[in-house]
Amino acid sequence: MSPPTSSKYSEAKIGVFWDVKECPIPTGLDPSSVYQNIKSALAKKGYHGEVTITPYCDRNQFPDGPDDFESAGMKLVPAGDGTERYRTMSHEICFWLCLDRGDEYTNLMVISGDNMDFLDALELFKRKSPVNVLLAQPEKAWRWCPKCRKPLEDLVAESGEWFWESLAAGGDSITETQREELLGNKKEEDDTDCC
Ligand SMILES: [Zn+2]
Repeated sequence: MSPPTSSKYSEAKIGVFWDVKECPIPTGLDPSSVYQNIKSALAKKGYHGEVTITPYCDRNQFPDGPDDFESAGMKLVPAGDGTERYRTMSHEICFWLCLDRGDEYTNLMVISGDNMDFLDALELFKRKSPVNVLLAQPEKAWRWCPKCRKPLEDLVAESGEWFWESLAAGGDSITETQREELLGNKKEEDDTDCC
């Protein structure tokens, strides 16, 4: 498959905002290998710009300190419980997009437990600046019905969504077939619609 990113976004900077509590480092990996793997997964899709990864954790998640993250080139941000972490991430994404990047083309990747939490924020960002949206969430994450997911799917770049486990290992993004299976499974498992 050819990279979908022959456009102006291929050399643009990539801001990666990672919820480490909801999307923990998979067994056998460490901050440094995850960092390299995310970069290589992005490069495989044609994103070659400068990558900045900011991990957000629960305050009590790393009692021994953020040394591993710092030596891997990432600044770990302790951010409390789910809602507080979401707020901190949204705020920092906004800050990064609005103040640091201005009118430049930008790639934004959000790695979270449920990307639908970021829908409103992402819609707002997309209206304000030229931003290419990339997403990852755990394979076992809650799946919204196709109707509820539609606005999010409209925002995401082509081939721009990963299972976290795959992204962390430097793997490929979710294929159309996988996406259809996921949405299909959701329907069979749960008749009560989320909307
Ligand atoms: Zn729904």
